[in-house]
Amino acid sequence: MKLHHVGVAVRDLDEAIARHAKIGLKLAHREVVPSQGVEVAFVGERPWIELVAGTHPGSGVSKFIDKRGPGQHHLAFAVPSIIEELARQERAGAQLIDKAPRPGAWGHHVAFLHPKDQGGVLIELVEEGH
Ligand code: ZN
Repeated sequence: MKLHHVGVAVRDLDEAIARHAKIGLKLAHREVVPSQGVEVAFVGERPWIELVAGTHPGSGVSKFIDKRGPGQHHLAFAVPSIIEELARQERAGAQLIDKAPRPGAWGHHVAFLHPKDQGGVLIELVEEGH
């Protein structure tokens, strides 16, 4: 598994994009992902930083920010097959948030592993090319 991006929860996406541009990390892609209640912006180059803002107060990221404030939210790894990787992770004892892949940003399929088994770090699996 190679690092695909580092997810960072932000309150104000425009402000966060501008702040990263100032340190030389240019906007690569921006998209609303309705299935996850978020708007995301990828900045820099692979492995990207994914800035994640909730689109409504009930979204997972909005709740995360309410509880813990903005900051590092998840690590995402590219895998050749999410279905195979989820099966492998389940056999290894990881708790799955998603039993099946769901649509993510950039047309990728994604799935999340519970942070409880990962030292408090939320892990995202990314299968590119959809
Ligand atoms: Zn992500």
